[in-house]
Amino acid sequence: MSSVSPIQIPSRLPLLLTHEGVLLPGSTMRTSVDSARNLQLVRSRLLKGTSLQSTILGVIPNTPDPASDAQDLPPLHRIGTAALAVQVVGSNWPKPHYTLLITGLCRFQIIQVVKEKPYPVAEVEQLDRLEEFPNTCKTREELGELSEQFYKYAVQILDAVSLEERFKMTIPLLVRQIEGLKLLQKTRKHKQDDDKRVIAIRPMRRITHVPGALADEDEDEDNDDIVMLEKKIRTSSMPEQAHKVCVKEIKRLKKMPQSMPEYALTRNYLELMVELPWNKSTTDRLDIRAARVLLDNDHYAMEKLKKRVLEYLAVRQLKNNLKGPILCFVGPPGVGKTSVGRSVAKTLGREFHRIALGGVCDQSDIRGHRRTYVGSMPGRIINGLKTVGVNNPVFLLDEVDKLGKSLQGDPAAALLEVLDPEQNHNFTDHYLNVAFDLSQVLFIATANTTASIPPALLDRMEIIQVPGYTQEEKIEIAHRHLIPKQLEQHGLTPQQIQIPQVTTLDIITRYTREAGVRSLDRKLGAICRAVAVKVAEGQHREAKLDRPDVAEGEGCKEHLLEDGKSDPVSDTTDLALPPEMPILIDFHALKDILGPPMYEMEVSERLSQPGVAIGLAWTPLGGEIMFVEASRMDGEGQLTLTGQLGNVMKESAHLAISWLRSNAKKYHLTNASGSFDLLENTDIHLHFPAGAVTKDGPSAGVTIATCLASLFSGRLVRSDVAMTGEITLRGLVLPVGGIKDKALAAHRAGLKRVIIPQRNEKDLEEIPANVRQDLSFITASCLDEVLNAAFDGGFTVKARPGLLNSKL
Ligand code: ADP
Repeated sequence: MSSVSPIQIPSRLPLLLTHEGVLLPGSTMRTSVDSARNLQLVRSRLLKGTSLQSTILGVIPNTPDPASDAQDLPPLHRIGTAALAVQVVGSNWPKPHYTLLITGLCRFQIIQVVKEKPYPVAEVEQLDRLEEFPNTCKTREELGELSEQFYKYAVQILDAVSLEERFKMTIPLLVRQIEGLKLLQKTRKHKQDDDKRVIAIRPMRRITHVPGALADEDEDEDNDDIVMLEKKIRTSSMPEQAHKVCVKEIKRLKKMPQSMPEYALTRNYLELMVELPWNKSTTDRLDIRAARVLLDNDHYAMEKLKKRVLEYLAVRQLKNNLKGPILCFVGPPGVGKTSVGRSVAKTLGREFHRIALGGVCDQSDIRGHRRTYVGSMPGRIINGLKTVGVNNPVFLLDEVDKLGKSLQGDPAAALLEVLDPEQNHNFTDHYLNVAFDLSQVLFIATANTTASIPPALLDRMEIIQVPGYTQEEKIEIAHRHLIPKQLEQHGLTPQQIQIPQVTTLDIITRYTREAGVRSLDRKLGAICRAVAVKVAEGQHREAKLDRPDVAEGEGCKEHLLEDGKSDPVSDTTDLALPPEMPILIDFHALKDILGPPMYEMEVSERLSQPGVAIGLAWTPLGGEIMFVEASRMDGEGQLTLTGQLGNVMKESAHLAISWLRSNAKKYHLTNASGSFDLLENTDIHLHFPAGAVTKDGPSAGVTIATCLASLFSGRLVRSDVAMTGEITLRGLVLPVGGIKDKALAAHRAGLKRVIIPQRNEKDLEEIPANVRQDLSFITASCLDEVLNAAFDGGFTVKARPGLLNSKL
């Protein structure tokens, strides 16, 4: 059959795998492109810039197999149809999705696949002569949109290379199709709908620029679609205004040639309009007691947050409306903010949808694009509603603190409109251009810090702080929640893997440094992956050992390596016994899987010379310990500051130096040449090492003063002490924020003594009992007290005269 044909298809074709039907030569079908493979193909073969490049594709019918890995190329059907892409509609946002209109040219057979990635390309042999189609297709009906039951049949037709065989297979299908059409005609006749008659008598339009394509059936199908769409509009419960717009648009659509880009636009618009949940909602079920149980079951600790969420739900139940402030959970990443949001939806029996706002800087992301150009889209709110399919979901507005601003308008302003109960029943997305009632949506926001939330937005919100976890809390969370979830995800059972609590503690202290549990969760995932490989390998070996001809091997201790590679000893022979179950994850296994520990205690090492002190900083990611280093050199009294720091921090440094200069005599602080004028012929360099996050705020004051006191006295600061506090010129210590997070950070770092401002004493109550037990807190109202607590044996002159004045 591959004889001379007037038009020869290329010998290599890029393959488009479709699962929506079988394209036959001469027929046209629409196929949606969403797999990564097909997207790549469309992008590199069809879309260059924005125009459509004409390319012949090989279309292969493919039944998606949910069990197979999406990465691997599935087994390919041997025969396919070469097709011409006529139209591509779609966009890249919120996720890439295109719809292709393709027309079948002729069939081909795959000789061999020459490339698999990023999309398959095959060497092919042409099976039909291209000029045959007009004749053979005379009795052909549109088979593109075959329902699933026809799928197999259609593939057989595709495979039937001889003409006679093909006819035999097609005729029963055609008969059915004709029956169906007759029925449809009958029902149409009964309905005296004017608009529909317009469709019936409307002259058929063709896609004129496609060689060999017969558009009649395609148009028929499209007309059917439009009738369906119209019916949906009629039966939809959309408000009157929206309904009017739809009726107007569908009238326009009917008069439009399909090849016009606006045709697809209008059709997409109408499809969205009928899909939106104008009046569809779930029924709230709220039982506060059940909600409490659910929140407790899903989340360990975070008592304050759970309590506040329950109060909020209770008030909602009593008042039965959603007016009032929006809850905003503020805390470091991985502390369970999203997870609590999800639980709220679950307790109410509502749908849940997360809208990521990080980096959104264009108001059309929220409010949509006007429908004036190809690729215009509704905003994320309307898109979210379409996704959940009800008008009363829980929307989690994630990372409201990371909203940006740009020339395209302020997204925060658009968000305000969304959240304002006075306005949001009339929310108008630019794309929809009609109002949608958002008043039933329950919004919850999350943020890492309140500092960067636009004030007007902040005003609408009730902030609930979600602090980081202690080590003990993390261990509990890991064993109650994270490990069971990871085991399930990896198909493992507790009979196969055992992670003792000491190992979890090792992961927490030596492999992660975070306020939440996100990295911890990831590390547990890595361990489960490695164990899964071992278990699978073990089963394989067990099967081998079952063979009588194989002698029993010596049991060999398993060591797990990253990516599940086994160590050379056990790999040398397949006779080794399968690993003993459960596989115990001890520190050795940890090192094999996760590599050497990332955070070993380095504190005492770094504090081994004068001029270093540890401060406690608060960042949006939680509390952190912060080293402050100082050195001095010959110079003219200059102060140099380096590290990621802000202006307030620089001021603190100047204050500390001034205070030390004025107290130099009292403490016997001298410069390198023994003078009490500390800056005489001396430059000072202060450095705040390690920290990608810019730190600012006055709370480093006491640390800078202590560090400089150490530098000018030549004495070492105690290696187990960290501190926080603002200072004044006169050496008073003022209160600061974030005491709990800072205490947790000191605890994480294994420090023992924490110096805090006297007026922060009340904040100690918030600190979990076990952390308070491990740390000794010293309160200070002035710098004298701070220095006395920071140096072994105190800092007062009389107490240790011998130590003063030592040179560096
Ligand atoms: P956030 O939104 O604060 O960044 P997530 O809600 O995404 O954090 O939490 C990360 C993971 O940690 C989720 O799997 C979550 O279930 C789990 N997690 C966090 N805190 C807890 C907790 N207190 N109890 C149980 N699981 C938790």
